[in-house]
Amino acid sequence: MLSSTARRQDGGMTDLVTHAQDTRVVVVGGGIAGLVAALECARLGLTVTLLEAGPHAGGSLDRVVLGDITVDAAADAYPATSKTIAALIDEVGLAGEVETARDDRLWLAAGPKGAAPAPAETVLGIPANPWAEDVRRHIEMRGAWRAYLDRLRPPLTVGRRRSLGELVESRMGERVRDRLVAPYVLAVHGVAPEFIDVDAAAPGLNPALTRTGSLSGAVAQTVRSAPPERRAPRGGLHRLIDGLVARLADYDVDVRTGARVITIGRDGRTWIVEAAGEETAPLSADLLVMACDEDAARSLLAPHVDLPPSAEPRPAPLDVVMLRLRGVTLPARGSLVIGGGEAPASVRPVSQTWRGLREQLPEGDEVLRVTLPYTDADDGAVVASARQAASDLLGVAVDADAVRAAARVTYSRAAPGTLLGHAEAADAVRERARSLPGLALVGGWLSGNSLERVASDAATEADRARHAVLWHGVDPA
Ligand SMILES: Cc1cc2nc3c(=O)[nH]c(=O)nc-3n(C[C@H](O)[C@H](O)[C@H](O)COP(=O)(O)OP(=O)(O)OC[C@H]3O[C@@H](n4cnc5c(N)ncnc54)[C@H](O)[C@@H]3O)c2cc1C
Repeated sequence: MLSSTARRQDGGMTDLVTHAQDTRVVVVGGGIAGLVAALECARLGLTVTLLEAGPHAGGSLDRVVLGDITVDAAADAYPATSKTIAALIDEVGLAGEVETARDDRLWLAAGPKGAAPAPAETVLGIPANPWAEDVRRHIEMRGAWRAYLDRLRPPLTVGRRRSLGELVESRMGERVRDRLVAPYVLAVHGVAPEFIDVDAAAPGLNPALTRTGSLSGAVAQTVRSAPPERRAPRGGLHRLIDGLVARLADYDVDVRTGARVITIGRDGRTWIVEAAGEETAPLSADLLVMACDEDAARSLLAPHVDLPPSAEPRPAPLDVVMLRLRGVTLPARGSLVIGGGEAPASVRPVSQTWRGLREQLPEGDEVLRVTLPYTDADDGAVVASARQAASDLLGVAVDADAVRAAARVTYSRAAPGTLLGHAEAADAVRERARSLPGLALVGGWLSGNSLERVASDAATEADRARHAVLWHGVDPA
């Protein structure tokens, strides 16, 4: 028989469960941020509906079909140092199926001598030793002499420089900037190195510069032996998305695809969310989690809150072209190769990178991922440009008749978390959003653009928001 205290506690517990179930959550956007936020809320028993505009969940963790295989189109890996993504992989039962990218060293092709491995000893592409053979290969003798001046010049006297591009160019010259530092930042983050905050991207570098008196000396002191390995479940990172959607189903989350939210209203403390093409009535929510891209979030929330601006510049959009080839002998390495210029193309022979993909392909087939700056050209023209870029960067002819299947997808990218002013601007946006009870903003445009950042930030923010909405800021304990 229960004691009266135990009965009271049991009654209190029932109230808590009912209170949680009565709390309605609508998540707008089914990228990794939306899926994680939905999971965080569903775990505590809240009633969650997730609305995704596209035909499937995943967002930039996207997939395309090339004949009889499905391959990752955009994000395809997480670094071995990731904690949140690794925990999610574990949660969906894929931990035993994780593989490591093969022969993953970055290659650069911004100089006149063509593609070669990126120097081994660098921080953010800045070399520790300008005379090293693998550095001179890219910047040549003239660039090495100019970079060496860094050792002879006094350390900065006008305070420390926070702009990566300005720091590198002023100390080591434009060849180091253009051929070693800019390609990665431009290709992967879509912004020039001038807009990257050195203190955010490599926190120890400026202090080491003050200590050692030179940038290359600072790099030598802070360089890590090797970047973390990149990992993914065999068969593609999109399997994580399928696993998360299945996990949400376990928690009775209503995940709707093809449901683009078009208006968001407010009635007292209740949000009213309406999606295009939905036959059901608009949804009511006590907690609204905006997990879509920046433009959609700003325009949907415009009637309710005037959000402060984000840091500039916004990254340029890009085209990803996936090519399935037959009869082309590729170099046997999985490296990303990045070209030169201020809008560099890049190519990764993903069938060489991932054994799981290799095993799905018949002998003689290969898959390339080519990224190009976005143009409004038609798909045929963009695929032709991708073939040309792949031929140039890999040094192997990729002719039209070798292409068995191709897919082009355009992505807008969120800013990297290391963009100058990003953290302050994102904090200001969040602070303003908190003036509206029952609202949470998540996603790459606030957390910075990488799966680990997005997922861990979404979990933290969803936890804060669900706590606020369940207890109205009062701790139940
Ligand atoms: C080409 C590319 C390659 C990348 N590679 C990597 C990588 O290898 N590793 C890594 O860590 N990171 C990588 N990233 C970054 C990473 O993919 C993103 O940071 C992350 O996926 C962003 O997740 P998100 O949920 O914030 O946004 P998104 O993935 O953009 O999701 C937003 C979702 O909201 C939906 N949506 C928009 N408007 C509405 C609306 N009105 N109603 C309903 N739904 C809406 C969209 O359809 C979309 O599904 C890459 C990004 C790109 C573009």
